Amino acid sequence: MTESQNELHEFHWLMDMLQTIEVGLVVLDRQFNVRLWNGFMESHSGFSATQVQNRPLFEIFPDIPEGWIRRKVETVLTLNMRTFTTWEQRPHPFPFRNARPITGTEAYMYQNITFSPLSSASGEVDHVCLLVYDVTDSATARLRMERTNARLEQQSQTDGLTGLLNRSAWESLLASEFERFRRYRSVGTLLMFDIDHFKPINDTWGHQAGDDVIRAIAAMVMERLRQTDIAGRYGGEEFAVILPETDLAGGEILGERLRQSISSMQVTTEAGLLECSVSLGVAQVTDAMSDHQQWLSHADKALYAAKANGRNQIALAGNQ
Ligand code: GH3
Ligand code: MG
Ligand code: MG
Repeated sequence: MTESQNELHEFHWLMDMLQTIEVGLVVLDRQFNVRLWNGFMESHSGFSATQVQNRPLFEIFPDIPEGWIRRKVETVLTLNMRTFTTWEQRPHPFPFRNARPITGTEAYMYQNITFSPLSSASGEVDHVCLLVYDVTDSATARLRMERTNARLEQQSQTDGLTGLLNRSAWESLLASEFERFRRYRSVGTLLMFDIDHFKPINDTWGHQAGDDVIRAIAAMVMERLRQTDIAGRYGGEEFAVILPETDLAGGEILGERLRQSISSMQVTTEAGLLECSVSLGVAQVTDAMSDHQQWLSHADKALYAAKANGRNQIALAGNQ
């Protein structure tokens, strides 16, 4: 074989490899016309190399992020430098379907893309090469892990029956709110309440009906609160709400509204319509308190006073 035959062979091998490599290979000129389109691009786009040859990329894919691609290509041509984009920035620049739709949960192929400048024989940079990597597997694994973590994180903070914060999550927020109130000398009020005569509800109508009552009260609380208020399920049938930027009088108004709404509510349960009431204790944070436990215990004492006074009422800390 002569030298030039050898080179021809090698060139042929090179073309074969580019054609069959599991990476998309596209060459664009300055006008964004397609000059090279390998087998990967053919099989995922459904367009053959002949169909796209010398056509502007944006005409072939009207929905492709044109402005974004233009900016990338301009940068590469101007600076004569490679640039790399990841699926986190643009999940699917080329609208290719996920090649593994049966097992895959994602409909589209996630892509990382490298943009490289190509110089002509005269040294002028006039083309850009795009390498398109299919990163669907690692992207979906990452996304799945993130979703699982977010769900676990949420599950560990919320109470399954009501969707309110559970006791430990709520109490750690109370501790940080307490620090905030102490540091900035701002006001804040705590509301605690407990369902009246709940044991007889369970005993008479069943645990399931009792659960329905707890759920309905939680829903009512969520509906009545402001965005910044923090509600938690403190115990079985005990609830607690942090009211930031609220003084004792404000806490009393909100607590009284809650009391009225709950006592006039009819809860639909398997056992029929049930009525219930709650007793509430309200306590504003004061300088005399050394930690959030003391704040809690003031609200709890007020709640106990409301019970002792006949239930279905509200009591203020310091006024018992
Ligand atoms: P009081 O007016 O003094 O609060 O009377 P009470 O009967 O509500 O108070 P007590 O503390 O004696 O009873 C609370 C009951 O709440 C006892 C417990 O079986 C029930 N309970 C606690 N958690 C749950 C729950 O998640 N679901 C149901 N259905 N009942 C619960
Ligand atoms: Mg009770
Ligand atoms: Mg109780």
